[in-house]
Amino acid sequence: MQEIVAQLIADHQAGLNRFIVTANPEIVLAARKDPAYMQVLQTADYVTADGIGIVKGAALLGNPVPERVTGFDLMRTLLQHAGLHHDRVFFLGAKPAVLRQTLAAVRKQYPGVVIAGSHDGYFAPDEAAEVAAQIKAARPAFVFVALGFPKQEMFIHQFRDQTPALWMGVGGSFDVLAGVVQRAPQSWQEHHVEWLYRLLQDPRRLGRMMALPHYLTLILWHKFTNKQN
Ligand code: UDP
Repeated sequence: MQEIVAQLIADHQAGLNRFIVTANPEIVLAARKDPAYMQVLQTADYVTADGIGIVKGAALLGNPVPERVTGFDLMRTLLQHAGLHHDRVFFLGAKPAVLRQTLAAVRKQYPGVVIAGSHDGYFAPDEAAEVAAQIKAARPAFVFVALGFPKQEMFIHQFRDQTPALWMGVGGSFDVLAGVVQRAPQSWQEHHVEWLYRLLQDPRRLGRMMALPHYLTLILWHKFTNKQN
């Protein structure tokens, strides 16, 4: 976490354009199925392991990563930095009411952050360019995109060239910041069962969670057959 934060702050101070993906097993499986999405992910400047599945999978395949870096924690750390330096931040995504609560939480918890602009995540595909134009006009240093995958990464890939900022897909993080969804308690996170907490909060996620055993099976298959794909 410290390493990526230091790197991102240095990039931000240098005025670079950056695309950060926080990958979890669902994203990996979606990219395996959809070559266009895979290609977009491969254009990311940084990919972090959001999810214990990625950390364990990387270790099993002999290419370990130091630790889990979730989109939510990374966003919070960058907001902290932005608050201290009065940086401009654009918030894109979530339902209108959730976005309003997210902005209220930012004003309260990170009073130094300059909210350069915001837009909810429910716009038609033909409105995307107009949303991107709003982001450009806002001149943000950080753009947090909470559209869920693969939409958020596809959007960032398509429009990141409009303005040199740090662009990051943050999934359901606005819902957590807004207080609409609770993050798992620290002890659940430490015991690597955050996914179970999310499932208990929202049993409709069960279908999506089946990605985890599928992902694990693939990892073990690769490990024991030593295949590359
Ligand atoms: N979302 C959105 N536009 C869409 C679809 C989803 O803004 O067209 C938002 C949704 O309201 C939620 C987030 O994207 O805030 C996705 O949340 P989810 O929990 O699925 O993401 P995860 O963290 O699991 O990737």
